[in-house]
Amino acid sequence: MMGNGFYFKCNKCNHDNDYLFGIGFLFSSLESVIDLLPGKKAQMAKDLYENNKEAEFTYDGYEVYQCEKCASVQNTFLVEARDKNNNVLFSSVNNCGRCKKPRKKIKHTETEIKNFKCPKCKSDDLTYMPGVMWD
Ligand SMILES: [Zn+2]
Ligand SMILES: [Zn+2]
Repeated sequence: MMGNGFYFKCNKCNHDNDYLFGIGFLFSSLESVIDLLPGKKAQMAKDLYENNKEAEFTYDGYEVYQCEKCASVQNTFLVEARDKNNNVLFSSVNNCGRCKKPRKKIKHTETEIKNFKCPKCKSDDLTYMPGVMWD
């Protein structure tokens, strides 16, 4: 399994960054994905996994999540747990710290992110380039 990524540069403010998409070789089981979470989150997820029988876990590869209001970005893999009523018990995607809103997953093709805005100035005048390959 492999992931890919791409690089963008904002034509307005020159902000640039690259993002990862897809799934790495470590994503062989839910347990291994939970282990990839940052410390505090890994502990929360483990507690749920071991102690909450209602928690239904799903996981997915790296995606870009963006706040619709202020355009802040989190580029992360997804680990999510929901209860029987579909309430989110745990997610590796953080709400925007500024707006306190859930970030939305951004759609993308091989070469471009759809509806993506520069996280710095919110411009959509961006140049994309293929990014690093990894696995
Ligand atoms: Zn925000
Ligand atoms: Zn910009």
